[in-house]
Amino acid sequence: MPSSPAPLAASRPAPRRRLALVFLAGALSLPPGWLRAEAPAPGPRWQHIKTALFFTSEDVKQLLAKPEDRRATLAYFAPLRLTKVYLDNASVDPAAVASLREIAADLRAQGLEVSGAVVPSNRGPLCYNNPDDMALLEGRVRVLAQVFDEIIVDDWLFTTCTCAKCLEGRGSDSWADYRSRLVAEQSKRHLIDAAKQVRPEVRVIIKYPNWYEGHRQNGYDVARQTPQFDGVSVGIETRQPTTQDQHIPTYSGFVFQQWIGGDAGAKWRSAWLDNSQMQGAGNDFVAQVWQAVLARAPEIIFWCAGELHPPNPSCDVYPPLWGMMPEFDRLAGMLSGPARGIPIHLPLGAVGEYNIFGYLGMVGLPMAPRTAFPADSKTAIFTQHSLRDPQLGAELLARVRSGKEVFLTWSLLRDLRGSELRRALNVISEDGTVASSTFRVREMFWRSTPVEATRPLTFPRIELSTWPYVRQVALVREDADFGVLMTAPYLEGQVDVLNMPDNSYDLQRLPEPVLNSIRSLFFGELGVRLVGRGGVALYPFGERQYVLYNMNDGPAKVALRLPAGSPTQGWQERMHSTNLSVSEVQEDRGPWTRRETEVALALGPFELVLLERP
Ligand SMILES: [Zn+2]
Repeated sequence: MPSSPAPLAASRPAPRRRLALVFLAGALSLPPGWLRAEAPAPGPRWQHIKTALFFTSEDVKQLLAKPEDRRATLAYFAPLRLTKVYLDNASVDPAAVASLREIAADLRAQGLEVSGAVVPSNRGPLCYNNPDDMALLEGRVRVLAQVFDEIIVDDWLFTTCTCAKCLEGRGSDSWADYRSRLVAEQSKRHLIDAAKQVRPEVRVIIKYPNWYEGHRQNGYDVARQTPQFDGVSVGIETRQPTTQDQHIPTYSGFVFQQWIGGDAGAKWRSAWLDNSQMQGAGNDFVAQVWQAVLARAPEIIFWCAGELHPPNPSCDVYPPLWGMMPEFDRLAGMLSGPARGIPIHLPLGAVGEYNIFGYLGMVGLPMAPRTAFPADSKTAIFTQHSLRDPQLGAELLARVRSGKEVFLTWSLLRDLRGSELRRALNVISEDGTVASSTFRVREMFWRSTPVEATRPLTFPRIELSTWPYVRQVALVREDADFGVLMTAPYLEGQVDVLNMPDNSYDLQRLPEPVLNSIRSLFFGELGVRLVGRGGVALYPFGERQYVLYNMNDGPAKVALRLPAGSPTQGWQERMHSTNLSVSEVQEDRGPWTRRETEVALALGPFELVLLERP
């Protein structure tokens, strides 16, 4: 990967370390009077992205309390070209105001924007029925509001409390309904109103946690809270996706922003990510930041200074991060046109198959979340998340009646018992699971090809009758072919059903022809499809740009396919001038042929490219 930006290549660190020393020397040699200048000249900034750094209350103590510490800290973080810092305050003591003011004034004098931050925690999640916890929250916020125009609320604004008062308050409600109401009411009183009593113009920003699947159960409710707060920050800390305890696919970070940030509109302020327990995972850390850049986050907040600074062992991801900063800025400056994708129905507050939109994105299906039912597109994806929409069954049927396509997960179709669409397939047996390494992929008309995976993969069992013949992709065992991808014409439209592997991560490990078959169903909607292995994400922008990002540890040979007649000359790869092989390809199927334009290239591990058509 000669032109790969992969930050962990052994030959790379030396020049970057020199770069750091240049920054360090520059920051340390500032003239003494500069710090007290009336109108501070801002430090160097990125042209197309905005970066911010979070300091926990402990970080403030360790890294910012003394003037000499502040200078050393800012020199250390100079490669991030910060615009803004957030200072957490854990104290309710009015005496804390003076020292916060001094630190904030000094940082502002050095050209930084400075906001406050609060972590609503009392050595654990708060009880919103406990007056002491509410007094603690209010006390911290009152200190902050005396110093700052803006306060961001760390994602501990949740509760897991099961005390007698909380149980009594809940009554016969669900925890989700009770807690989302309770937290909204109490945080209005003890957080938002408390801050505005001290400083009426203060802006209070809510940061949503990445564990969307438990939001309402634990008191977060995007539909209720986004209107309540002055701004929204979206947590995209996907960390190390396979071994960290949340196992979030990296692409989910992109979707969280499009979904929750997109819903917030002008209130969307930032993406927030961290390097928590990411020692040795620099590539995954950089991959998180790319999701923020690709989603065009208005600001990228790095949590937190102490984790990116020695002696924290996870600070080993800091050099790969700052080595990539110029690349992030360069891509952000080149992107043009709106992000395009396949509409996926994600009502606010919905839960369903865990992070399924992230897994779909990781196999090159670009996701465009819609909080309202997507009625107009040629096709759209529906998962169990759609069940939050009470009109779902009727809306799906209306889509199919009007000649459109619906792409459903098998889990959703199972839950739609009693609906008309459930009758699109004739399932004769569906209990338990089946495993095999052999797939049969149906090509044009009746030809199909067997394909081998590198190891057996397990799926929920779907055994179908011979007719209607719906098996686009089947898992093959001696006794039967089981449904993996099924397509059925129904009424005036079409019903597609995907049976997700038992281990969602295995979607990325499906053989290429299986993935290509799934991607083909969205060719009409997108006007482009990816061919090649899983673990490569596609981000189309406008009608001319396609970002491809290989999030595999190994190389990936991939290609974009476009409708026949698309240009075969004048394509460019704009990040590293990567070689492209562009041609018109023809597939023969007996008397039928299919022509497409193909743009092929090889990607190194964790390499990102921007393809642009003429
Ligand atoms: Zn309680």
